[in-house]
Amino acid sequence: MNLYSTNNPDLRVDFKEAVFNSMPQDKGLYMPVSIPRLPKEFIDNLGILSLQEIAYTVAQHLLQGAIPDGDLKALIEDAINFEAPVVELEDNVRVLELFHGPSLAFKDFGARFMSRVMAYFLEAGEKQLDVLVATSGDTGGAVALGFLGVPNTRVTILYPKGKVSGVQEQQLTTNGQNIRALEVDGTFDDCQALVKQAFTDADLNAALRLTSANSINIARLIPQTFYYFNAYAQMRREGKSKVAFAVPSGNFGNIGAGILAWKMGLPVEQFIAATNVNDTVPAYLTSGVYEPKPSVQTLSNAMDVGNPSNWVRIADMFKNDLPALKNMITGYSFNDDDTLKAIEAVYQKYNYVVCPHTAIAWLAVTDWLSKHPGDVTGVFLSTAHPCKFPDVFTGAIADAVQIPEQVKELEQREKQATALQPNFADFKSYLLNNL
Ligand SMILES: *Cc1c(COP(=O)(O)O)cnc(C)c1O
Repeated sequence: MNLYSTNNPDLRVDFKEAVFNSMPQDKGLYMPVSIPRLPKEFIDNLGILSLQEIAYTVAQHLLQGAIPDGDLKALIEDAINFEAPVVELEDNVRVLELFHGPSLAFKDFGARFMSRVMAYFLEAGEKQLDVLVATSGDTGGAVALGFLGVPNTRVTILYPKGKVSGVQEQQLTTNGQNIRALEVDGTFDDCQALVKQAFTDADLNAALRLTSANSINIARLIPQTFYYFNAYAQMRREGKSKVAFAVPSGNFGNIGAGILAWKMGLPVEQFIAATNVNDTVPAYLTSGVYEPKPSVQTLSNAMDVGNPSNWVRIADMFKNDLPALKNMITGYSFNDDDTLKAIEAVYQKYNYVVCPHTAIAWLAVTDWLSKHPGDVTGVFLSTAHPCKFPDVFTGAIADAVQIPEQVKELEQREKQATALQPNFADFKSYLLNNL
């Protein structure tokens, strides 16, 4: 597999280099030089394949030998060890539940696959890989649990004290082994600034082999294509072949993976990009003017992104052709008031609890379907389990949130976190004194 940079179509790196660099020097994003079309027989037979079988074939075509078949198969069986069921709410309205992994969010697909790809490429005797990650909640949990116990790797997570939910904090701080948590007396931006500065510090780079695990890494994007194929497979089993996907979007990695799957031959009628008031992309699809903005805080905080980092990949797949983009992607934006009403409406209508991010996708798919009557099934993606956002639910809905076993188990464990002031000298000495 060869990759180029969205800022330099002539650049060529192999998969290993793209995974360890995360981002090219020119600050573009890596994209595959050729996006393979999957054989027609594969698409026609999706209905008889399991998620793992689908994942293996899709990865095999994309990676084109970068990881030999046997190793790739074992890696996928280890990484993708939970399901992504499509649940029926109405005949033409379905929810794709992506929260059955260890951190109860779709980011588990990316983090588990990436951690195992990195471990695979670390050759015997190579220096331990130190992953630094700043989190406002969901990313840290997925990365921590994704790398937990993966040989030759260590993860250091920085999270803002008092600003993540109880479940999220437990996922960050109760792991032990190769995972360390730093509780920063500051904001998410402080955490991110510390991590960024660490990557440019000569002493730290001499002492440690640092890498980031952020959402622009190509190894996080690839496994997110798997569940789009698998969702379509489930629809095919029910005799449905026309699907529109509504995706709660922040950095646009998730929907970008869906579009990559479509480019590989997955039949999709429409992608629906659902955002909160951080509406840079929906506004662009309407006005034709791409205007990144500072992010605004909302209830669906994993989507509080004013300058979506993965958008350039999507634009690249459409060669920046606005009419073509508008033809395939419909944008929607909703505010917090809409979000709360949607959580209530979904509960009343279907006796089903959605997290605030998922609620926005439901609003979007419902509106889109009302404007496109016909035989298309609307599948909206549920990106996280509602128990991760307890503050937004009240009354009967709060009582209806079921606590998964993984969470009950975490509650028994002891929190282990090191307090840190948002000060680079302190962070640096922590890293150097705890080799
Ligand atoms: C990260 C996240 C999103 C946004 O996904 P992107 O790939 O950044 O668009 C949506 N919902 C939840 C729960 C998330 O954790």
